[in-house]
Amino acid sequence: MIVGDRRERLHAMPAGAHMPGMDLDFTEAELHRYSRHILLQEVGAVGQAKLRAARVLVVGAGGLGAPLSLYLAAAGIGTIGLIDHDRLELSNLQRQVVHATARIGRNKAESAAETLTALNPEVKVETHAVRLDADTAQALIPRYDIICDGTDNFATRFLLGDACHLLGRPLVSAAVLRFEGQLSVFKSHLGPPHPCHRCLHPEPPPEGLVPTCSEAGVLGAVTGVMGTLQATEVLKEILGIGEGMSGRLLLWDALDARFRTVKLRRDPACALCGENAAIRDLSAHRDMAPPVCALA
Ligand SMILES: [Zn+2]
Repeated sequence: MIVGDRRERLHAMPAGAHMPGMDLDFTEAELHRYSRHILLQEVGAVGQAKLRAARVLVVGAGGLGAPLSLYLAAAGIGTIGLIDHDRLELSNLQRQVVHATARIGRNKAESAAETLTALNPEVKVETHAVRLDADTAQALIPRYDIICDGTDNFATRFLLGDACHLLGRPLVSAAVLRFEGQLSVFKSHLGPPHPCHRCLHPEPPPEGLVPTCSEAGVLGAVTGVMGTLQATEVLKEILGIGEGMSGRLLLWDALDARFRTVKLRRDPACALCGENAAIRDLSAHRDMAPPVCALA
C-alpha cells in the first residue's frame, strides 16, 4: 500500500536529511494527496515538508496569479499570501481562471482564496485587499520567503523589484503581452553574480510607450503557461532542485511556438545592486502616483 510505504520511508530517513526542527509528520490524507510528489526522488517527504513550511506571496490575483496560486495551493505550499485591491470584472475571466462568474464585483484576493481553499483545505491563504505601495511592500514582503510578481504595470514591477532586493527576498517574475511571455528569478540580495531587475531594465519606460494587456490584449492561455512556469520556479527554489533562473531570462513566443533563454549579467554600475548603488530605500516610490492600469 503506497501510503503506508511512504510513511515507513519517512521515518527511515537518515538523520540530517532535513532541516532541524522541520515537522515531518504527515497525516494519511496528506500522504495520499501529495503521493505523486513524494514519489519523486527530488521531492520526497522532506521536500513536501519544505513546501508545507514555506510562505509564498503572490502579488496580483490576475492572469499570472491565477494559475500560479492554483498550482502553489495544489502543491501544498503551507501559506500563500495574495495581494490584490481590485474587484473582479467580466473581462478578467478570459484568463483569470482562479475566479468564477458568480463572483464578479468581489475583491479578487478574496475570490481567489475561496477557490484555493476549496482545492486544498490544508493550505492557509492570507488575503491582502490592498494596493501594493512602498508601505505595504515594506510591511508584507518580510513576512514571506519568496515573492511572485503577477502585476501588469511598470510602477508596481519596479517597486516590487526594488523592495525584494532591499528586503532580501527572491523575486520570481513573469510578464505577458499579446502572444509573448518572459520569466526570470531575481536573487540580487545574495550578491554577485546574481543580477537584479534593474540590471535588465535600469528605469521604467516612459508612460504610454509600452502598452499593457488592457491596451494591447493577451491570449488567455499565454498567461496560463507563464503563471505555471512561475509556479514551477517557486517550487524549484523552495526544494533547492534543478537549474535556477537567476541570471537567465526565458522568452516565449507562442505564435512561433519557440522558447529561448538569454543570459542576464549583473551590472556593476546598477543603481540598485551596483557597487555605488544610489537606491537605498523605497522613498522614490512614495512620491509616485498610483498606477492606472489593471493587474494582468
Ligand atoms: Zn542590478
